[in-house]
Amino acid sequence: MRKVFMKLHEYQAKEIFRKFGIPVPNGQTVTSAQETHKAIEHLKGPPWVIKAQVHAGGRGKGGGVKIAHSPDEAEKAAENILKNPLVTPQTGPEGKKVNQVLIEEGVNIDREFYLAMVIDRSAARPVMIFSQAGGMEIEEVAARSPELVLKELVDPVVGWLPHQARNLVYRLNPLPAPESIRELIAIMGRLYKTFIQSDCSLAEINPLVITKEKKVLAVDAKINIDDSALFRQKEMQALDDPREKDPLELKADQYNLNYIRLDGNIGAMVNGAGLAMATMDVIKMAGAEPANFLDVGGGASEEMITRGFEIILEDKKVKAILVNIFGGILRCDVLARGILAAAEKKEIKVPLIVRLKGTNVEEGRKILQESNLKFLVAKDIEEAAEMVAKQVSG
Ligand code: GDP
Ligand code: MN
Repeated sequence: MRKVFMKLHEYQAKEIFRKFGIPVPNGQTVTSAQETHKAIEHLKGPPWVIKAQVHAGGRGKGGGVKIAHSPDEAEKAAENILKNPLVTPQTGPEGKKVNQVLIEEGVNIDREFYLAMVIDRSAARPVMIFSQAGGMEIEEVAARSPELVLKELVDPVVGWLPHQARNLVYRLNPLPAPESIRELIAIMGRLYKTFIQSDCSLAEINPLVITKEKKVLAVDAKINIDDSALFRQKEMQALDDPREKDPLELKADQYNLNYIRLDGNIGAMVNGAGLAMATMDVIKMAGAEPANFLDVGGGASEEMITRGFEIILEDKKVKAILVNIFGGILRCDVLARGILAAAEKKEIKVPLIVRLKGTNVEEGRKILQESNLKFLVAKDIEEAAEMVAKQVSG
């Protein structure tokens, strides 16, 4: 499945920042706790900071960021982080397996800021976001104290201008020391350059800190690369870490299925991206939540239908399944056979609602009816959504 963006690990994002002149702490990654002592030999400290490398934020809150005051303590911290899946507010209760740990020179933090470059969709422009409430989730700051979230829209034709950086920095209260102000302004320019030249959809530093020694450093780093630009970001492609991907999404990739896992409990199988979006909308309008987006495509084979259905059945969150097919190039009989093949391998234990229309619909219905598959038939998409929502309510 082509995703909207590709996520990088913190250590990879910091490597890119370093290249663009944004200062980051010295560090090294390890994949086992035993490597910690050796890694630390090249790093100033104590203290050292031990950080889980996973594609999820909120690591600090989940015990994925530890400060160590001795090499032994650092090794223990790395061991603990690598041992168990990391649970943070962003991972879900099952957590995420940690394959790598970043060990860094500890930093004496005086002040923490939030700095990010993203696309403002409504303005159709890049926007620099800056806040003196660093270290916290920016959504949280925006909800509680919106006046602390400062923004500068960028005209992509002229690029980032120095006065825009001054607009942001001189609104700080209290003002940092002059040398820190100069650094902050320079870093904003470099962040814009990073964002544009690396085709980022997000480049975020949270926190960007001023140290007690008045140095400015990116203590955390998050970069997402726009998927549509990956063809010209060859070095970025090599940074992709498939271990971070959802196993069901990886499986869908193998069979060329457009599948995205979501948080709800209604499994949906649809042909055509537009119909899949519309189906998700009506599921939500009926008061339920889709467990996935799945567009099996116009010309899906029986094999692809089977694989897609298997993926839905493998998702333990799924409590009901909605099949919404408008047969065109994909014929309804092919769909029916595909579903039956999947049901033969794995028993369908959740209610199944089917709405079929279009090419060979009679034959498709007949195949399903003559099987011993239990399912309900809906006459249209609204009825289908209501039926499926009813199955999971209460
Ligand atoms: P996140 O929780 O996943 O966003 O991980 P961060 O890299 O942002 O780390 C969480 C918090 O740990 C930061 O907001 C800092 O307050 C703290 N932290 C990280 N590195 C250091 C460090 O070198 N020294 C100190 N004192 N605190 C640090
Ligand atoms: Mn952070």
